[in-house]
Amino acid sequence: MFKIRVLIRLCIIYFILFFLISLWYLSKLETNETKSRLIHRLAVIVPYRNRSNELEIFLPHMNSFLNSQSVDHIFMIVNQVDKHRFNRAALINIGFIESRTFVDYIVMHDIDLLPLNHKGLPYIYPKYGPIHLASPEYHPIYHYPSYVGGILIITCKDFERVNGMSPLYWGWGREDDNFYVRIKRTGMKIYRPSNLSTNNTNTFQHIHDNSMHKRDYAKYGKQKEEGRKIYPELGFNTTKYEIINKEMKKTNQGIEYIMLDVKIECDYNLTPWCDHPTNIF
Ligand code: UDP
Ligand code: MN
Repeated sequence: MFKIRVLIRLCIIYFILFFLISLWYLSKLETNETKSRLIHRLAVIVPYRNRSNELEIFLPHMNSFLNSQSVDHIFMIVNQVDKHRFNRAALINIGFIESRTFVDYIVMHDIDLLPLNHKGLPYIYPKYGPIHLASPEYHPIYHYPSYVGGILIITCKDFERVNGMSPLYWGWGREDDNFYVRIKRTGMKIYRPSNLSTNNTNTFQHIHDNSMHKRDYAKYGKQKEEGRKIYPELGFNTTKYEIINKEMKKTNQGIEYIMLDVKIECDYNLTPWCDHPTNIF
């Protein structure tokens, strides 16, 4: 009889211990990166026009990079098919609007900037604030401290909080600098990789062919001075566009991606510089 009582007590102690250890283990999982990778989903949003060679390199590279980090992801290539000048910010806003219902974080990703350092560049859910992976310390060509272009990871919530990007930028540049100010004025901190074993020559590969793809630096009328203003009320909520085609495509290697053909609407009163002026002689 005495033995049975001891046995029952031992069993109870065993079950309590088992319960407590399980609780501890679960709470550990909660804070663990693996858990975060299992429950989060990333949209890789690529602003795009006329970069088919780069796309062929980008998709397999990124797919294996993200798979090696067990990041659940979809590719959303936002292809500008109107006749206006390229508008990177508006395309990212559109990518966000079109993917926000099935992902909880996005990475705005230039097509020609390939991450090389697997360990140092995690595409994790940025729960503490935006993560600028293409840090000026490691970017091949841009080294100014407020640079946030190239590759930036942000939660859908935070992107919404800053009202996305300003859609006023047509042609090359400054939309990312505007985005830096938007983030800073909300008090968010920007995180960047540090103490990497690589440097600005081998953390990324910039497959930008300057002879094929000239940057559209032209500035017309008030474009330059307007580019310095923030206009926080303008953002993804004021980006007007039409979807011309939305297709789930597959590369030869079987990698799936969404190709979204869009026409961005230009408000000529606000930004007459969305087209190059035609010279009439
Ligand atoms: N881009 C594009 N077509 C263009 C211009 C730009 O697809 O005509 C996209 C592409 O994803 C590219 C990004 O916008 O990587 C940034 O443009 P770019 O490479 O010219 O800027 P950089 O960072 O090299 O100055
Ligand atoms: Mn480039």
